[in-house]
Amino acid sequence: MIFAVVNIMIKVMAINAGSSSLKFKLYDMPEETVITEGVVERIGLEDAYYTIRINGKKVKTILPVKDHKEATNLLLADLVKRQIVHSLKEIKGVGHRIVQGGDYFPDSVLVDENVIARIDELSALAPLHNPAHLTGIKAFIEVLPDVPNIVVFDTAFHQTMEQEAYMYALPYEWYTKHRIRKYGAHGTSHQYVANKVAQVIGVPIEQLKIVTCHLGNGASLAAVKGGKCVDTSMGLTPLEGIPMGTRSGNIDPAVVEFVAMKENMTVSEVLYALNHKSGYLGVSGISNDSRDLEAAMQKGDQRSKLALDIQYKRIADYIGSYYVYMEGIDVIVFTAGIGENCSRCRNEVLKRIKVLGVEIDEEANNTTKPEIKEITTKNSKIRGFLIPTNEELVIARDTVRLAKLI
Ligand code: AMP
Repeated sequence: MIFAVVNIMIKVMAINAGSSSLKFKLYDMPEETVITEGVVERIGLEDAYYTIRINGKKVKTILPVKDHKEATNLLLADLVKRQIVHSLKEIKGVGHRIVQGGDYFPDSVLVDENVIARIDELSALAPLHNPAHLTGIKAFIEVLPDVPNIVVFDTAFHQTMEQEAYMYALPYEWYTKHRIRKYGAHGTSHQYVANKVAQVIGVPIEQLKIVTCHLGNGASLAAVKGGKCVDTSMGLTPLEGIPMGTRSGNIDPAVVEFVAMKENMTVSEVLYALNHKSGYLGVSGISNDSRDLEAAMQKGDQRSKLALDIQYKRIADYIGSYYVYMEGIDVIVFTAGIGENCSRCRNEVLKRIKVLGVEIDEEANNTTKPEIKEITTKNSKIRGFLIPTNEELVIARDTVRLAKLI
C-alpha cells in the first residue's frame, strides 16, 4: 500500500490596525513562513501610502484610501492581482492585535458580537487603539464574511498577576465602579520572548524566573515566574512605568495639577504632554528616537545623555524590584527596537545591576544585528539575552489554534 504525505498549508493573516493605518503579515502555517507583509498608512487621506514587500523589496503606492474597509479591499485585491494568493478562499483565518482587553480576556479569543461589544466598552481605557482595532475587525468581517477572526490582547499575558501587584492603593470603589487597576501592555511580546529564551537555553519555562524588557518607542518590563506574568511596569494605560520615547513613565501625580495651574493648561493638555512630549523627547528637547539621542550625546549634548540615563536607571530599578519579588532572576531578555538594536542601552542597564552578579560579555553585546544572542559571560549569575520579538507570529499561531485550522 502506498501512503501519500500531504502537507497541510494554511494561509493566515496577522493584522495590526491603528487609527489611520493597517499593518499586515501573511503567513503560511504551520511552517510559520512569512509570505508577504506591508502596511496601509494615512488612511482617510487622498495620498495614503500602501507598501507591500515583494521578493524582499518594498513596493510603495500613493493613492486615496477612504477608510479601513477600502484599505482591506485594496490589500486583498492586490494579493490576488500579484498572485500571492490565487483566490481569497486560501486565507483561512485573520488574527487581530488588540491593545486593551481589560480583565475580560486572559487569552486570545474567536470574535463574535459579545467580543466586539467588550472591546468597544474597553475603548474608554484605550481611546486611541481599541476603536481603531474594531474598524480593522469590521472591515475584514465585511470583506471576508466566511473567514474566522481572532483577537489577541496585549493585556492577556498580564492577567495572571496577583491582586497585590495589579491593584493601586486608591479608593476601592474606583476599582469596583471603574475597573481602575494595572492591566499592562506588550503582553504578546513579553510572552513570546520569555518562551523563546526558555527554549533557547533548554530549560522548561516552569522552572525559570525571567525579566523581559520590551524597549521600543513604547517600553515596558515584565516579571515572569514559572511562565506566568507576576508583575509588569505599564498600568491602567501605557503611561505608567519607565520613561519612553515620548512618555514620562512614573511621576508624582501631583505634577498634573501643579503644571495645569502654572501653565494654564487643562488636565487633558497636561496628560497629552505626559504622553507625547515627555520621555526622551521631553528631556532632550531633540527627539524621541534613541539613535538621535546617541548621536547628539556623542557630540557632547548633556540633555540627551540625561534623557537616556534617566531611563536606564528606572529600568534597573524595576529589575531590582522584580529580583526581590520573584526571589531571584535567572534570565533577563532585551527586545523591541531599542532592546534589539541598541548595544549601549543593554550595556548601561546591565552595568547598573552589577550588584546582582551580572557580568556582561562586552564583545557579544557589541552587535548591531537583531538576532538571538547571549550577552553575558559564563560566570554571570543572571544570564542576559537579546531575543528579537515576533508579536505577529503569536497572532498567527493563536489564529490557527483558536479557529482550529489544523
Ligand atoms: P519599536 O517601537 O519597537 O519599533 O522601536 C522603535 C525605536 O527603536 C526607535 O524609536 C528607536 O529609538 C529604536 N531603534 C530602532 N533601531 C535602532 C538602532 N539601530 N539603534 C538604536 N535604536 C534603534
